[in-house]
Amino acid sequence: MIIGLLLRFLYFLFLIFIIRALIGYLFPRSPKGKASSPPPPSSAGSSSKAISGHMEKDPICGMYIDAQTALHTDREGKSFYFCSEGCQKKFVASSP
Ligand SMILES: [Zn+2]
Repeated sequence: MIIGLLLRFLYFLFLIFIIRALIGYLFPRSPKGKASSPPPPSSAGSSSKAISGHMEKDPICGMYIDAQTALHTDREGKSFYFCSEGCQKKFVASSP
């Protein structure tokens, strides 16, 4: 019975695959070049403004503008900065 033998062989390969997957899952290899989890830059504390000329992202068009000179709107305890009155109006209109 050559087919029975083949099935057993495939079953054996399948078992090895499962075991390897399990080991990989339990002991994940960490690549040297990659950092595990870089902290998100957006969640930085508002008090720490190390960079002079603090830049903020316009949530509408994605442009970076100087927080000192930009138009801004405060919403839910957060400040949003806009490059223009148009972007600010769009933001205000889109928010509930
Ligand atoms: Zn804009």
